Amino acid sequence: MDRVDAVVVGAGVVGLAAARALALRGLETLVLEAETAIGTGTSSRNSEVIHAGLYYPAGSWKARLCVMGKAWLYEYCAGRAVDHRRCGKLVVATSVQQHAALQALMAQAAAHGVHDLRWLCAEEARALEPALACTAAVWSPSTGIVDSHGLMLALQGDLEAAGGVVALNSPVRRVRCTDAGFDVEAGADEPMRLGARVLINAAGLWAPALAARIEGLPAEQVPRAYFAKGSYFALSGRCPFSRLIYPVPEAAGLGVHLTLDLAGQARFGPDVQWVQPDGQGRFDYRVDPARVEWFEAEIRRYWPELPAGRLQPAYSGIRPKLQAPGEPGRDFHLHGPRDHGRPGLVNLFGIESPGLTASLALGEVAAALALGEPMPQRLSGL
Ligand SMILES: Cc1cc2nc3c(=O)[nH]c(=O)nc-3n(C[C@H](O)[C@H](O)[C@H](O)COP(=O)(O)OP(=O)(O)OC[C@H]3O[C@@H](n4cnc5c(N)ncnc54)[C@H](O)[C@@H]3O)c2cc1C
Repeated sequence: MDRVDAVVVGAGVVGLAAARALALRGLETLVLEAETAIGTGTSSRNSEVIHAGLYYPAGSWKARLCVMGKAWLYEYCAGRAVDHRRCGKLVVATSVQQHAALQALMAQAAAHGVHDLRWLCAEEARALEPALACTAAVWSPSTGIVDSHGLMLALQGDLEAAGGVVALNSPVRRVRCTDAGFDVEAGADEPMRLGARVLINAAGLWAPALAARIEGLPAEQVPRAYFAKGSYFALSGRCPFSRLIYPVPEAAGLGVHLTLDLAGQARFGPDVQWVQPDGQGRFDYRVDPARVEWFEAEIRRYWPELPAGRLQPAYSGIRPKLQAPGEPGRDFHLHGPRDHGRPGLVNLFGIESPGLTASLALGEVAAALALGEPMPQRLSGL
């Protein structure tokens, strides 16, 4: 049986970042990806927003990794010529009743070091975005957008430059814990077996399902997975906004917001629909055109002049949730040796938003947890 130092399961943005972090430490690292290309999962089905860190409770992994990851991501994108833009965003209240929620967002953000937010009255917000209807807004100048595929290609490039490899078409079927680490069985047709002393499970939506196939990991440690689909509609024609526009957040998502891609294309989404995979473990990613009326109504709360017929179904993504519908939101669950007692093993559960923003930080922390290293310095101040 062949051996490597480290196996990472999943070539999404988080798996690639974790693999890069391991390879840069000198570990021989192999990424096993079930699909025929990198980044075909949630990492290519999101809003591509670099989040500032407004939405998460102070001290949570989401808050700390988002704030640390944002700074890191901007530096990384600038250094590696990954297309991105610090365009800023407005979070808008559309009734006076929402002002308390907006103020709470500002206070929460300040508690974990996001001090650049500014309260705008309706006139100040409209001076920035004349098409906007709101009663007040919060301006977040450090929010931005990133080319997620460009980011993943850069991470893969770093990994390969450090001697790492991505093996495509290599679904991991099962894992056995051994004295030397892990025996991993992977492959579509002819399964291969390989040994590793480090295993990072970055299988996204399927991370709990994979953890359940790690022999030696107690079943009660594997969380139940829930899935919330989010669909997007693209705006045809000119968009009157040049900044991202977000409503006050909802229970299971951030509300139907306006994001812009780097080419200036505007899209609105995502909504929240709780879904289940089919019998073959596949999701239906099609966008239901009948949702357009609901989208129009949501958007007209902050853009009343949205003309009819301008929204086209675009794409959807699925959030890996750890809470059932109606339950309070959960933090990222970085399930490491301190939780399960297996040196070298980290399962990354519930890596929903802001997982793209936090990807470099998540990768670094996952590598540190797997190797029993102290947490990265940049995290300690948060
Ligand atoms: C609608 C939506 C909008 C979002 N918007 C934002 C945003 O604007 N900003 C932000 O920061 N975050 C956002 N996110 C979150 C972000 O997209 C995710 O947190 C991030 O992409 C997760 O990356 P990942 O690598 O963990 O998962 P994935 O990208 O899903 O990668 C997991 C990979 O594992 C592979 N895999 C699964 N099982 C196996 C197996 N057994 N063997 C081998 N390979 C396997 C899959 O094929 C896949 O390639 C959004 C998410 C959604 C759903």
